[in-house]
Amino acid sequence: MSAPLLESYCHLSEDHGGTIALPRDTPVVRDFDKPILEVANALATLCVHDPQSDVYAVALRLTGDSLKIYVAENNGVPEKTKNHLEKLLSKLSQIATASQSALENTPPLEDATTESQKNDFGAIVLKHSFPKFLHSLTKRGTPWTKRVARIKEDLGDGDDKAEMFQTIVNNLDAIDGIAHLYDDTQKEWILPMLYKCLSELDTVIRRSSATPLITEMLKMIDPGDEDALTRLAELEDDTDINADGTLRRGFSMTRFIYRLLAIEIHTRRLLRLAVSPSFVKIFTNPVEIECCPLRERSITIYPHNSLKLGTPGLVSSFETTKEVKVSLHAELNVFQRLLEAALMKKEQPYWVIGISKLMCVGCYTVIAKAFPAILQRHTVHGLTPITVQGSDGKLSSPWAAPDLSFAEQYVGFDLNLEVRECTEKFIRGALCRYAEHRSLSNKAEQNPHHNRIPDAYSLALSSLRKT
Ligand SMILES: [Zn+2]
Repeated sequence: MSAPLLESYCHLSEDHGGTIALPRDTPVVRDFDKPILEVANALATLCVHDPQSDVYAVALRLTGDSLKIYVAENNGVPEKTKNHLEKLLSKLSQIATASQSALENTPPLEDATTESQKNDFGAIVLKHSFPKFLHSLTKRGTPWTKRVARIKEDLGDGDDKAEMFQTIVNNLDAIDGIAHLYDDTQKEWILPMLYKCLSELDTVIRRSSATPLITEMLKMIDPGDEDALTRLAELEDDTDINADGTLRRGFSMTRFIYRLLAIEIHTRRLLRLAVSPSFVKIFTNPVEIECCPLRERSITIYPHNSLKLGTPGLVSSFETTKEVKVSLHAELNVFQRLLEAALMKKEQPYWVIGISKLMCVGCYTVIAKAFPAILQRHTVHGLTPITVQGSDGKLSSPWAAPDLSFAEQYVGFDLNLEVRECTEKFIRGALCRYAEHRSLSNKAEQNPHHNRIPDAYSLALSSLRKT
């Protein structure tokens, strides 16, 4: 049994119990890989049904004449999700085949697919994703109404931006009405209409003559939001919602709108790529879907509570350990599966892993940092780095590293140990910088209540450095 520090670090929390947030990280993705990653991210996101618990990872392996899809979920893939994925891919294949015939250059989406084709496909998407969509929508409670009123007041009457804001609010009201009609009646003919409304809102916000003005208006009403936020919102958790469902201070209208549009944006990307001559073969080639069963691991950690950064008893409590059972996060599950396929079944390695949210620090560090670093150290025939998206910077527990010990007989070195050690080095380094930064900012506060914390942090720091 290897030393339990890697998993223990991933089970750390703030001294008040909150999540430790390290800097976000985004890998460089080669231009060629970007559309494939978009497909994988879209398929993973459109698998999500339950907004509270579903986290999907979809790995794509493309060859000249086939597409293999590995799909995993944190708690296992239900049969109905597999059926849904099959249905989506078969529809996309029909659309791709139909569009392939005449056009030489990438046609605008509007020309290559008919309005009803788009809305019908959107309806299939929405039917499965509706609970997630409704969850994003129901943030329109009293706090939302208050926020809208305040924005209107700030923007004033008769201004162009005020008019744009009102247009968006009207659109959202219409979408809300239709969504609740579907929720109440479950009539399927409502869904293409709902998709059409979402699509129209997306056009106004991202692709119309009003777009520059709207962008300016959103920047004004949500100051401090980076441009990246709109992209992140498609893949992120509901971090602006408190445990009791109320909106956290600083509720972002931009984020709200983009979360609502996320399903439509991913759907649109799939449709656009399905009719693009460069990518049409992804969808027209035969597809094989493999659902990865849950992988449970029994891991040893230093007990969670005594490992909180800033707890003075940190070092002495390192004496005790406990065993816990943990399921691999979906992305690590498919990651391990891809390595097995490459080494044991000699499947060609061109891989991309898409995930329905940003990755936690543990998973991201294994896949996007440690694994590529080890492949630079050793040339292993059949293994290449895997294209993925970024990390949300959070330590998310329960967490376990993948078990790659099977690989040693194929690669001739202890891949499992090297991945663990390299991942641990990266995470420990990030935690040290975090603790140092916290210690400095606490000192800077000069708050008498915080006076004891720098000591506790330096304790945590020294114990991290000793290991
Ligand atoms: Zn993870």
